[in-house]
Amino acid sequence: MATLRQQIATTALSVTKFRELMKRMRANRPSDDLALVRKAYDFSQKHHAGQTRASGEPYLVHPLQVAMVLAEMKMDAVAVAAGLLHDSVEDTSVTIVDIRKEFGEQVAHIVEGVTKISAIDFATREEQQAENLRKMMLAMVDDIRVVLIKLADRLHNMRTLEHLAPERQQKIARETLEIYAPIAHRLGMGKIRGELEDLGFRYVDPIAYQQIHEAVEARRKAGETFLARVEQVLRDKLKEAGITAKVESRIKRLHSIHKKLVRQRIAVDQVYDLYAMRVITQSVQDCYAVLGIIHNLWRPVPGRIKDFIAMPRPNFYQSLHTSVITEDGTPFELQIRTEEMHKMAEEGIAAHWKYKDGPVSAQDEQRLAWLRQVVEWQRDVSDPNEFLSTLKIDLYPEEVYTFTPKGKVVVLPRDSTPIDFAYSIHTEVGHSCVGAKVNGRMVPLRHKLHSGDIVEILTQPGHKPSRDWLGVVKSSRSRNKIKHWLNLHQRERAIEIGRKLIEKEARKYRVALKEIKDEELQKIASDYGLGRPEDLMAGIGYGKYSARQVLARLAPAGSEPAPEGEGEKAGTIASVVRRVFGGDSSANAIRVKGHGDLLVYRARCCNPIRGEAVVGYVTRGKGVAVHALNCPNVVNLMYEPERRIDVEWATDDGTPSAYPVKLTVFCDDRFGMLKQITAVISDTKTNIRNIEARTANGQANIDIILDIADLKHLENIVGGVRKIPGVHDVQRLQKI
Ligand code: MN
Repeated sequence: MATLRQQIATTALSVTKFRELMKRMRANRPSDDLALVRKAYDFSQKHHAGQTRASGEPYLVHPLQVAMVLAEMKMDAVAVAAGLLHDSVEDTSVTIVDIRKEFGEQVAHIVEGVTKISAIDFATREEQQAENLRKMMLAMVDDIRVVLIKLADRLHNMRTLEHLAPERQQKIARETLEIYAPIAHRLGMGKIRGELEDLGFRYVDPIAYQQIHEAVEARRKAGETFLARVEQVLRDKLKEAGITAKVESRIKRLHSIHKKLVRQRIAVDQVYDLYAMRVITQSVQDCYAVLGIIHNLWRPVPGRIKDFIAMPRPNFYQSLHTSVITEDGTPFELQIRTEEMHKMAEEGIAAHWKYKDGPVSAQDEQRLAWLRQVVEWQRDVSDPNEFLSTLKIDLYPEEVYTFTPKGKVVVLPRDSTPIDFAYSIHTEVGHSCVGAKVNGRMVPLRHKLHSGDIVEILTQPGHKPSRDWLGVVKSSRSRNKIKHWLNLHQRERAIEIGRKLIEKEARKYRVALKEIKDEELQKIASDYGLGRPEDLMAGIGYGKYSARQVLARLAPAGSEPAPEGEGEKAGTIASVVRRVFGGDSSANAIRVKGHGDLLVYRARCCNPIRGEAVVGYVTRGKGVAVHALNCPNVVNLMYEPERRIDVEWATDDGTPSAYPVKLTVFCDDRFGMLKQITAVISDTKTNIRNIEARTANGQANIDIILDIADLKHLENIVGGVRKIPGVHDVQRLQKI
C-alpha cells in the first residue's frame, strides 16, 4: 500500500508530466479536441491508481510517457488519448465497452487494437508467431495509429527495461530487434528505430554492447574535437558559396556499428562512417552543390557516393551519401538532404500524418499498401511458416519480395531485376521478357527491385534471352534457365555462323566446304585442343578463331586467296553474321541493333552513348566492341576490315537506359557557379553520379559524372551549361 506521502509525490509527478503533455499538444495541434486528452488522463489516473511499475514508479507515468512520445510525433488528440488509455483494458477492470461509452468509437477501436497486439506472445512456437504477426499486421492496416502507439509503448518499455528480471529483458529486447525496430524502419521512422535498436542491442548482447560502447567512448573526445573542426571548415565554405544549410555531426549509433563489424569482420577503426556529418539544405539543388563543395574540400572514398535522392530507398528515405578522407587520413561519412527529406528520414509515416485527411502523401499511401499486401498475401498461404519466413525476409533486407499486378507475392534475392521476376513467373515469360513496369513506371531490365514493388513484365512472343542477362540476374533459377537456353540455341547458331564463315573464306580459295573432308576438320579441331569439328565451327562462330587462319591450315600449300572483288567484298563477317542472326532487334543491354545473340559491348576507350555514330568491331573471343566513330582507336582497329561490323542503335522502345558520361566544365571560380551548374543539370532530371571541383587562380575545373540517356540529352545539358556566364568550355571525357 502506498503511503499518503508517496501518493502526494505521485500526483505531483503525474501532474507535471500531464502539463508538459498538454503544452506540447497545444503547440502541435491547437485545433484538436484537447478536452478528450484531459478526460483520458483523468480516466487513466482513476483506474491505474495504486498500481506501480517494476521501477517503483506509479503506473500512470507509463501511459503519460507513451502519450508524450505520440505528442512529439504530432499525433492527434484521438491517438494521444488512446495512448493514455492503452493499458487500461489489459491491466485494470475497465472493458472496451466502457471505453467506447466514454470516449467513442475511434478511441475504443484503437485501444482494442493495441490491447490485441499486447496480448501477442512473439516468443512462442513458430506457427503461433506467424499467426500473431498476422494479427498485428491486420491491426496495423486497420488504423496506423495502433502501431504508432505500440511503437511508443515499446520505446518507453525499452527505456525502462533495466527494472525487469534478466529473462524478461532478453525476451523483450529480442522481440524489439526482431519485430518492432524493423517495422519502424519499414515505416521510415529512423529516429525511433535507432533508439529501439540501441536499447535492444544493449540487452540482447551485453558483452558486444559493452565492448563497442567502450571503444566509442575511448574515441569520443578526440572524435568530437575532430568533428567540431571539420564542421567549422565546411560551414565556412558553405558561407563562402552562399549556401544556407544546417551542419550537424554525431558518432554512429552503437547498434549500427555492431552490425557493420559483424558483417564486414572489421575493427572499430576501420568503420568509414564512425563519424558522421549531416548537412540539411534548403533545396535539392543545394544538396548537389554541397556534395561538390565537400569533394573539393576532402578526398572522396571511391564507391561510397550514393544518390538516394534520385533513387530513394524502399522506405522512401532520400539523401546524398558520401565518405571522405581528411588530409590527416580520418574518414567520415556525410549525409546531405533537404529539411523535408530530413523530416521524412526521422519520422517516416508520422511525418505528415493527419488523421482527418487520411494519409496525405502518396508515399504514406504506398507504406499502407505494403501492409495491406502483406495481409492479403498471407491469406493465400496455407503454411504459416512460409508467411513468417517471408515476412522476416521483408523486415530484413537479404531478400526482396515483390508483387504481380494481381497481388501474388514473388520472393527474390536482394538486388534482383525484372528478369529474375519474369523467370520466377514462368520460364517462357523469362525468355520472352522485353521490358518491365515497376509501380507503373517503365524501368530498364537491369533495374533493381525493392520490397513492395509491383512488377509487370512486358513480353514479346519469339523474343530470346541475351547472354548479357547473365550479368544482370541474381537468382540461380534465372541464371540456370538462361544458361540452359543459351547453351541450347546459341551454340547451334555459333556452329551455323562458323560454317558460313568457313564457306565464305573457302570460296576465296575456290574450294567448297563440301569438298573439305571431315578428317581434315577433325585434325584442325584437335590442333586447337577441341573434340569435334562442330566445336571448331562454334569457336569460329563465337569469334574465338578466325576463319582465315583455320582455312590457311586447310588450304593446299601455295594456293592463294582470290583477289578482292572477285569473291567477296571486305566485311564478310558482317554480312554473314547479319544474315544468320537475322537482324533480331532484341533488347540487348546496350541495344545495338542487328545482333541480338552476339555479345556486344561498349568500348571502354570511348563509351559511346545512344545517338552517337558508332561502329562495331569483332574481337577475338570477347564479342563485338562498339566504338564511337570518332574514337581514336577506330583507325587502328580497322586494319582487319573483315572484322568491321555495321551496328546501329536500336529504336527507342521507351525503356529508359543511362550511360555514365564524364564532363569537365572550365569556368571562372565565382560565387554560385556550382549551384548554377547543378541547377541546369537537375532541371533535366539527370542523375549526378559524382561531382568534383579543382580551383586555381580564379579558374575552376569541375568534373561531373552524369547518367545520360542519349546524345540529345547530353547536348541539352552541355548547351545549357555553356550558356552560364563565366563558363568557358565544356568537354566530354571519353574515358570515365
Ligand atoms: Mn504499455
